[in-house]
Amino acid sequence: YYELYGCALNDQIHGSRYLLCFRDRTEEEKADLLKSEFVSIVSHELRTPLASVIGFIEILLHRKVTPEKQKVYMETVYKEANRLSNLINDFLDLQRIESGNLKLQLVPIDVDRFIEEVAATWQSKQSHEIRLELSERASFVKADQGQLTQVLHNLISNAIKYSPQATGIDVRVVTSGDIVRIEVQDYGLGIPEGAKDRLFDKFYRVDNTDRREIGGTGLGLAIVKEIVEAHGGRIEFTSRLGEGSTFAVTFEAYPIQSLSNRILILED
Ligand code: ADP
Repeated sequence: YYELYGCALNDQIHGSRYLLCFRDRTEEEKADLLKSEFVSIVSHELRTPLASVIGFIEILLHRKVTPEKQKVYMETVYKEANRLSNLINDFLDLQRIESGNLKLQLVPIDVDRFIEEVAATWQSKQSHEIRLELSERASFVKADQGQLTQVLHNLISNAIKYSPQATGIDVRVVTSGDIVRIEVQDYGLGIPEGAKDRLFDKFYRVDNTDRREIGGTGLGLAIVKEIVEAHGGRIEFTSRLGEGSTFAVTFEAYPIQSLSNRILILED
């Protein structure tokens, strides 16, 4: 798609000559299309919970309802309002990453210590046991601590959410050569074959009866993928329906050599 943005006429020496200037708008057109598709998805996703909140509050305000029903309605309002809040937070996170406004503060991170800290924040507040298998030798990656925390939180939160039987969750750190791999394995619902290609798409949620009651925005994995790739890392998963899933993120190891150099410099 080309757009005409200027023209000139010159007839002084060689008679009439035209100069037409076009610019290639193909990429801009594509971006505009994506933007409008995104806006329409978001407005739909925001309207649905909001309509439900307004509907229930109207009933509570204008109709006589038994105290039992009142409680049920209030719980629904609370759930939907929470869903809205999560959606807005996830959406803003993704916007920030995609627009390039996310400035990564890269620091060397001791992966084992980091995983222990993240797992500890989950341990007390839920019923799934989180088992850790740490790497045999110290491994470091250069990453943004806050963003890496979000990656782990999203993966562990999914592993818990989609394992309704409270089976344990294994978090592993595997180092091979100059690659550090962090795995989160669950023994829950698993992912149907037909959903695997779209799992990282924005707003995509698996629509099986086994998980219709489980809340979510469909943005968690899209965020994880963006963050991991912004660090030059990779994300992959294996899963069997009814057996469980393993999500793995891999990063280039930060050589310990460079760490000891830094320490030496500091000591000088
Ligand atoms: P959300 O959990 O908010 O729906 P995500 O982007 O995190 O969104 O995940 C997309 C979909 O992938 C989920 O709706 C869920 O069905 C499926 N999924 C993600 N992680 C797991 C997991 N560990 N086990 C089973 N299904 C999962």
